[in-house]
Amino acid sequence: MAYELPALPYAMDALEPFISKETIEFHYGKHHATYVNNLNKQVPGSRFENASLETIVKEAEGSIFNNGAQVWNHSFYWNCLKPEGGGEPEGKLKEAIDREFGSFGQFREMFSQAATSLFGSGWVWLVCDRAGKLSIVQEQNAGNPLRKGLMPLLTCDVWEHAYYIDKRNRRPAYVEDFWKVVNWKAVEAYYLNRVA
Ligand code: MN
Repeated sequence: MAYELPALPYAMDALEPFISKETIEFHYGKHHATYVNNLNKQVPGSRFENASLETIVKEAEGSIFNNGAQVWNHSFYWNCLKPEGGGEPEGKLKEAIDREFGSFGQFREMFSQAATSLFGSGWVWLVCDRAGKLSIVQEQNAGNPLRKGLMPLLTCDVWEHAYYIDKRNRRPAYVEDFWKVVNWKAVEAYYLNRVA
């Protein structure tokens, strides 16, 4: 069973001026694609032959975990973004954010702080537990909160390859522009599906 690079849900230049076409060409077209290729080389003959990507994310270790989780994380990241995104969540997700963090502004501040302060490469996540309680988690490298039984709702990739072409070393500038392309409808849908 071959793992596939999912289609990008928008054109390569669709997130400009916040994330450039060149960044997406490298990030999706090279980095994400390479994780898929590596996974397809490493899974045959391992105990994960025929395993779902989610099983690999939850159970694998070492290189199969690293490549499998990076495939999952990037697909999820692209789905968290959209052209003309940004703004604020609505409905039950907004209520949950207000309840947990005080306000959307305070949530945004905390998530941005988690993204800019994560040392080295990794991912910052908005997650909910089985009771629907929200939290912000930092994960190093290919880390994924599914391994802790937490359900991902939103992620920001803070590997340097996510922003170095556009922003050089300025991770905070990347995080500021990340908010302008968040697909809150998708995040709301993840939240509603997972607490239902
Ligand atoms: Mn990445």
